Amino acid sequence: MTHSPSPVPVFDGHNDFLLRLLRNPSARETIWLTGEGKGQLDLPRMKAGGFAGGFFAVYIPSPPDASGLDYDTLMDNPPYQVALPAPVPFETAVQTATAMIGHLLWMERTGTLSICRSTADIRAAMAAGKIAAILHMEGAEAISEDLDTLHLWHGIGLRSLGPVWSRPTAFGHGVPFAFPSGPDTGPGLTEAGKRLVAECNRLKIMLDLSHLNEKGFDDVARLSDAPLVATHSNAHAVTPSARNLTDRQLAVIADSKGMVGLNYATSFLRPDGRKDTDMTWEPVLRHVDHLLSILGEDHVGLGSDYDGAAIPAPLGDVAGQQNLIDAFRAHGYGEALIEKLAWKNWLSLLDRTWA
Ligand code: ZN
Repeated sequence: MTHSPSPVPVFDGHNDFLLRLLRNPSARETIWLTGEGKGQLDLPRMKAGGFAGGFFAVYIPSPPDASGLDYDTLMDNPPYQVALPAPVPFETAVQTATAMIGHLLWMERTGTLSICRSTADIRAAMAAGKIAAILHMEGAEAISEDLDTLHLWHGIGLRSLGPVWSRPTAFGHGVPFAFPSGPDTGPGLTEAGKRLVAECNRLKIMLDLSHLNEKGFDDVARLSDAPLVATHSNAHAVTPSARNLTDRQLAVIADSKGMVGLNYATSFLRPDGRKDTDMTWEPVLRHVDHLLSILGEDHVGLGSDYDGAAIPAPLGDVAGQQNLIDAFRAHGYGEALIEKLAWKNWLSLLDRTWA
């Protein structure tokens, strides 16, 4: 009989927990501190699963869909091509972003989490047993084209930004949720988007390429002086979703000494593209093997998409995170590689990006 070593800490590339507080602000104490028995994240389950920290996304929800499309049914029956939602106006996005950042600041005030502006902050939070949170924006809707608000959000603690979620912004264009599909689905960055890349480089705000289409990806690759990062994307060679990265894109990220975080969404893990949680670890390991084969063992990490995606049943929620670590062990990954995948690579990447 084998006994697993103590939990490996996990530093994670993407979660949508703040969306749950946005939707139910009066219950935030229960949702965060004790858990409401729903969703995939809360403080007790993070502790149980060894979740040490990660990127907390400010994502602006689209207004309810007037088309009446049932996305769940659609995405459970590939092939599919979900139309992109309409752009969200700046004023609406600022209101939502302000509320979500307010919730993250409240979490910090409970003494259980620390909003980290440097890797020294992350290491200190981990040593103190607090959740190490990076303030991230998934889509730049809350940033004005003159970029003044970028400086405001940076002052509050913003250290990571995706120019787009999948819908278009003033800065660029994202991929639609489509399977099977390549990522070359539209035009590249706008002029404002090119200025955004330069300003993020100056402010040392990490740029996140997940959700960008291929032309936008190549524009960032050409313009940015930072390592290229996709916080929550998988290998297109295993699952040909528009949201996954082609081997060419992975090679470009490798050249920049960048990083890819493994997304747990079943639609981006399963070779059949279905949003179906009834699956084994086998496709998950195939993605990690493929990412490792192109990026090398210093440039792959985890990017769960907790509270933003349907994830494999053997994982369940964040409390099951060590099951994935055990699957890595059973697959033959050594402890040194597992620690890199689980947290060390993210810290090294942030050392390279924010220094
Ligand atoms: Zn996302």
